[in-house]
Amino acid sequence: MSTHITHPDRRMFAGSPYTKADVAAYYRDVARWMLPELVRRPLSLVRCPDGADGECFFQKHHAAALGRHVHAIALQQKSGTEDYLYVDSLDGVLELVQMNAVEFHPWGARIDDPETPDRLVFDLDPAPGIAWPQIIDAARTVRDRLRQIGLQSFVRLSGGKGLHVVVPIAREHGWEEARHFCESFARAMVAQAPGTYIATMSKARREGLIFIDWLRNARGATSVTSWSLRARAGAPVAMPLRWDELGRIDRADAFDLSSARQRAKRLRKDPWDGIDRMAQRLPL
Ligand code: ATP
Ligand code: MN
Ligand code: MN
Repeated sequence: MSTHITHPDRRMFAGSPYTKADVAAYYRDVARWMLPELVRRPLSLVRCPDGADGECFFQKHHAAALGRHVHAIALQQKSGTEDYLYVDSLDGVLELVQMNAVEFHPWGARIDDPETPDRLVFDLDPAPGIAWPQIIDAARTVRDRLRQIGLQSFVRLSGGKGLHVVVPIAREHGWEEARHFCESFARAMVAQAPGTYIATMSKARREGLIFIDWLRNARGATSVTSWSLRARAGAPVAMPLRWDELGRIDRADAFDLSSARQRAKRLRKDPWDGIDRMAQRLPL
């Protein structure tokens, strides 16, 4: 591993001592758990040249300056073909850290078949004031309803406010089908409990409700990857959990750079063990 980190002492998070060197060391230490869900997928970055409390920007396009181990994948967009980026190794991740990437947001599809998703995400976004136990309930309800239609799912703390329920699927459905399935699923949940959930973007109508954000499942949409740092105060981490761990957690940003690193060292088995061996078909 040869990536040179410039400005290693740059503070990357308001209110925390963590530096750019710490960010690089963090990603090295969690790579074993993080890389399987990150590599060889079109990838968007949140880059923060002045640290997470400065101005950050979202980047999805490739540029040669990003590094030798950061690769381009040509994807068809409305205006023609565009070069998106991906990595296939820790070296690629570290080159992106050198370019001040803090967050990593892959597609739910792999570069060898970007038109056919293999991961769906139900992104649960609570309105301000929603108590944590209700958010857990929402995630478990999504899990149970998925199970009823024969689909296993996995849970992640977003590192922000909510939870993500991730469903591995066989690469047999296009984005339109996937998105349609997720929208119908979310709308059915709202129909069952309209005082608890909402499935439309409208911020105004969201008060007191949990938004089941199914829009993460459109072509080109991304979700933060497990083990990614978040560009927010305190260096929180998007953390994958086993379902039986969820009840012991009391917030979506329960893990930060240090506690996530410790967890990575102690883990014997991936909390999402088996996800890459599940070829689940959507009941369409
Ligand atoms: P939280 O729990 O706080 O909602 P989150 O990661 O789920 O955290 P959302 O705001 O719900 O955050 O966003 C969901 C996803 O949308 C993000 O993980 C990211 O991949 C994508 N996203 C966010 N901002 C942008 C952006 N500016 N451009 C493109 N995609 C974005
Ligand atoms: Mn969210
Ligand atoms: Mn969202």
